[in-house]
Amino acid sequence: MRPFIPHALRRFYSQGFEETDIHRRWAGLWRKQFKLRLYDGAFISLNKLRPRFSFQSLKRYSVRFAPVNLYMSTLNWLMPERVAEKGKANYAYPISGEYVVDVDHYLNYLPHSHRTTEEGVCEGCLENSKEISLRLLDAMSSNYSRFEVVFSGRRGFHLHVLDFDSSDWIEYNEVNPIKSHEVARLVYTRYLKQVCGGFDDDHFKLSVDPMRVVTFPDSINGQTGCKSLGGRGDFEALKVSSMLLESRWTRIYNYPIKWHNLELDDFLYKYQRLEEPLHAHLEPRCG
Ligand SMILES: [Zn+2]
Repeated sequence: MRPFIPHALRRFYSQGFEETDIHRRWAGLWRKQFKLRLYDGAFISLNKLRPRFSFQSLKRYSVRFAPVNLYMSTLNWLMPERVAEKGKANYAYPISGEYVVDVDHYLNYLPHSHRTTEEGVCEGCLENSKEISLRLLDAMSSNYSRFEVVFSGRRGFHLHVLDFDSSDWIEYNEVNPIKSHEVARLVYTRYLKQVCGGFDDDHFKLSVDPMRVVTFPDSINGQTGCKSLGGRGDFEALKVSSMLLESRWTRIYNYPIKWHNLELDDFLYKYQRLEEPLHAHLEPRCG
């Protein structure tokens, strides 16, 4: 039943959404632009409501709006509140930002008997995504050392390279910083694809795009929780079945929501970019 959904979401954000060591380790997390996606599909850009965030203020807005998805920008901004308006991103000054690979179970298909849970998750497909992820992490370890892996909620993982530096790959052009971040990502993604594969065309474009958004760690991502899994070692040691158990916030909080009834389009977030039109000042949903 639709009316209880925002209420259940609000309950998660008020009781289950807590700051962890992973959030604390994430330098630049509070220089990101944050967006909420509401149950009716509308987006809210939080930085228009408040320029700088702490976890507690992010949590307060999440409890208030009860979003289905909580997104953050890949880049860290000197003035994140200026990013939202179309064409003005240049005046917000991106100062840094992680490199992200969104790994799905495409490519490198491991044979398994494909079986999905009620949340639409198949453990065999996730094993496949894990293998691709580990290969990528190995390749990226020769360039960088600070990684965070986040379960994307259903089919794979987001690999965040926190110490990525655009000037390692290009001569940084201060006149056009966004283009610089884009070209650096293009160069690095081409290199990774060459040394270990792991990209199809769509995911290649995602890693190159510096204006993309990605789900906030330990928030909700459609079918299951968007659980942070830690660095490479933690990720490698954790079994896929344990990841799923820990991520099922609906069970943890005893709300047996059938996510597939919501007809969520989890493909959409991948192509949602910061400068698309935003509904900036919507009233909060009733809860
Ligand atoms: Zn499968």
